Amino acid sequence: MNIGVIGTGYVGLVTGACFAEFGVQVVCADIDAEKIAQLERGEVPIYEPGLEDLVQRNVKQRRLTFTTQTSEAVANSLVLFIAVSTPSLPDGNTDLRSVEAVSREIGRTIDGYKVIVNKSTVPVGTAVRVRGWIDEELRKAGRKVEFSVASNPEFLREGAAIGDFMRPDRVVIGTDDEQATAILRSLYRPLYLIEAPVLITNVVTAELTKYAANAFLAAKISFINEFANLCEDIGADVHDIARGIGLDRRIGSKFLHPGPGFGGSCFPKDARSIAQFARETGNSLAIVEAVIDVNARQQQRMVEKIAACLDGDVRGKTVGVLGLSFKPETDDMRDSPALTIVRALQARGARVQAYDPQAMDAARKELPDLTLCSDAYEACRGAEALVIVTEWNQFRMLDLDRIKALLARPVVVDLRNIYDPAPMRAAGFEYVCIGRS
Ligand code: NAD
Repeated sequence: MNIGVIGTGYVGLVTGACFAEFGVQVVCADIDAEKIAQLERGEVPIYEPGLEDLVQRNVKQRRLTFTTQTSEAVANSLVLFIAVSTPSLPDGNTDLRSVEAVSREIGRTIDGYKVIVNKSTVPVGTAVRVRGWIDEELRKAGRKVEFSVASNPEFLREGAAIGDFMRPDRVVIGTDDEQATAILRSLYRPLYLIEAPVLITNVVTAELTKYAANAFLAAKISFINEFANLCEDIGADVHDIARGIGLDRRIGSKFLHPGPGFGGSCFPKDARSIAQFARETGNSLAIVEAVIDVNARQQQRMVEKIAACLDGDVRGKTVGVLGLSFKPETDDMRDSPALTIVRALQARGARVQAYDPQAMDAARKELPDLTLCSDAYEACRGAEALVIVTEWNQFRMLDLDRIKALLARPVVVDLRNIYDPAPMRAAGFEYVCIGRS
């Protein structure tokens, strides 16, 4: 089967490369000419473990090609995935301009029956709008072409994207016609063979399932963060609480790790989007609204925690930060808690110096006043506090004697609880973490 993937970012590139690996012929399109040029040179523009090898192998075996022309992805493809960015608008709604641009381009160039699949996370009702945009372009040109529009939300996690795509917990396919269902079932046949559950729903259900999943995971994070804060006041240990509830199979142990609040390219914008969507339909998602609010307060609380370690005033003080990406194993800084924390510290007059294993390029763009250091130890040099914001593995076993010698004051604020309080205090640190007294 021939497919086209339009939008070659974290989702589109992984989707294209993984389908190519299954033996499908894939054309990936993107309007970012520099990105396509890099890919054509065999360079992968993002950091995602295993992706470079996968891309290079499939390019070499001629199953994966790249183009800046959406029309090239449209020609010859039976299935077209739309995997473009869908950022938040200031009111919380989703910005669908890229989805519209791609849909209209498909309408202008479609030459025969195809299944157009929304893989981007898009509000309920977007499939209908995609159909409308394509139809409008066809009408303008006085042409008639049959096509289906389906929803196939993506659940991959950055940092583990290839494994998640190739061995997903489930695949959700939303269609309103049998032809599209049969084609998408056949495309996902390699996953049937490994018995990945494939859930076929109608289109709006598939669209909503993605938001329900992200809202639920975000809720788990905000839930444990609120309990962590309570633990700090009463002398309880949030890790024991997380284990105590997580071992209950009705609850499950995942996403019960306290931290500085969730970030990333999905949870914050998707929570805002579904809350706004519900309001517009006259409904209320009170839990999701609370999750958004708790998360914003958690990030702010982290700033207060850091300031409290510096006598309540960070002005003129140097703070070292470890980890800037929104989570380990990615270079993605979109909505990272580090952005809120660093900006707030800078606004209060602190000088911030930081190191991240992969997000330094993104940090240069997002945080121009941040001093970037060559490694974790350089981020400690002369700092009056070291703040661990993202739990990269390489930060878990730092040379504590060296860190203590480099810091101006032996203060460690561990926002991911990757160290244990007792040994840190025994080693002479003023150690502050989350939800453990
Ligand atoms: P991204 O920003 O990494 O990639 C999007 C790509 O689309 C960019 O390369 C951009 O240049 C391209 N693009 C934008 N407009 C275009 C157009 N008109 N024509 C062709 N290309 C265009 O975004 P992403 O992280 O891959 O996310 C894509 C979608 O998938 C979003 O809706 C997101 O919510 C969803 N999603 C993301 C993840 C994730 O972990 N990143 C997981 C699940 C779902």
